[in-house]
Amino acid sequence: MRRAVERSVDEVVAVCAEERIDCDLVRGGTLTVAQAATEHERLLAGGHGELLDAAAARARVNVAGVKGARYFGACARVQPAKLVAGLAGAVERRGAIVHEHSTAVEIAPGRVRTPGGTLRARWVVRATEGYTARLPGLRRAMLPVNSSMVVTEPLGDDVWAAIGWEGCETLLDGAYAYCYLQRTADGRIAIGGRGVPYRFGSRTDTAGELADGTAPALRRRLERLFPVLRGVGLDGAWAGVLGVRRDWGASVHCDRDSGMCWAGGYAGEGVAASNLAGRTLADLIVGRDTELTRLPWVGHEAREWEPEPLRYLAVHAMYATLRTADAIEARTRRQSRLAALAEVLSGR
Ligand SMILES: Cc1cc2nc3c(=O)[nH]c(=O)nc-3n(C[C@H](O)[C@H](O)[C@H](O)COP(=O)(O)OP(=O)(O)OC[C@H]3O[C@@H](n4cnc5c(N)ncnc54)[C@H](O)[C@@H]3O)c2cc1C
Repeated sequence: MRRAVERSVDEVVAVCAEERIDCDLVRGGTLTVAQAATEHERLLAGGHGELLDAAAARARVNVAGVKGARYFGACARVQPAKLVAGLAGAVERRGAIVHEHSTAVEIAPGRVRTPGGTLRARWVVRATEGYTARLPGLRRAMLPVNSSMVVTEPLGDDVWAAIGWEGCETLLDGAYAYCYLQRTADGRIAIGGRGVPYRFGSRTDTAGELADGTAPALRRRLERLFPVLRGVGLDGAWAGVLGVRRDWGASVHCDRDSGMCWAGGYAGEGVAASNLAGRTLADLIVGRDTELTRLPWVGHEAREWEPEPLRYLAVHAMYATLRTADAIEARTRRQSRLAALAEVLSGR
């Protein structure tokens, strides 16, 4: 399964080249950096990829006080909106019709109801990910987890000389409540994480606005990673939702009799995984028995999320526990066992 996801990164790279999709793609791998000794201990204890000592990590990205990093090659930086627009163009060139602004209010075998009319089709694929809970009967199928990002103003050459980061690796910090970053093609840094993780009743907000306090929290994290950015201007901020299933596992489903298919639950890793799911669904729909259709996520079931208010309490408790574990570790400089509790709460 892991190899299949990793190969999907190559697949996205190949499709972008073939279809001439310009999405700022750099196949630079990903770095998880440890600033605290406890984070470093966790990095040493395990994970995918190659361990880098402090000097080797700093040679890639000059993170303040970095103790070490893990480098994993099967990762690429993309500008996701450009990727989506490019893919839409590619399918339209092959004759597909993309209907934007047509909300599916009900999805049933052979039938998708929208405010403007009902579509009928032999095959229906539900790929609504973090927005699934809005559909009738699916309120507890997928948890919409929010993630928020901010982006800096373009940084000057002197700042980039201090930071390095010439390989454009995507970056993760080593905290439990982690942040993720990328160096953008136009010389900014985008950082995401934090924010309000979940809204009561699986409500999803379409405005993409950040909750109060999220942008300052992301700025503080950015400045702790790169003190040279103290006081840097932020040019933009946005939030979106990820789809998370009760066991945090993604899956792909295809019922040949009814023609009803769905895929999702990629949590924060859906750029490559949704590509794999798409190719897997294509094989399932045309009835091909392939390596992809035998992957363990095909037909994988997970139970539903708890009804409210339990769902709200559990998700907020999980995130609060992760943040507390980070705070305890920062204070005591020892591994906190609290994170294990968060894993239990989340059902991971
Ligand atoms: C801030 C943020 C940062 C992220 N960072 C990363 C990352 O670094 N790496 C990574 O791999 N992944 C990341 N993700 C996750 C990644 O974006 C998702 O996993 C991926 O987009 C899932 O693709 P998808 O097509 O299944 O769903 P989505 O991209 O969520 O698309 C679902 C689509 O369905 C449409 N839709 C939903 N409901 C309906 C309806 N009823 N009727 C009609 N249309 C509907 C939506 O409008 C949307 O266009 C991030 C997500 C967020 C929010």
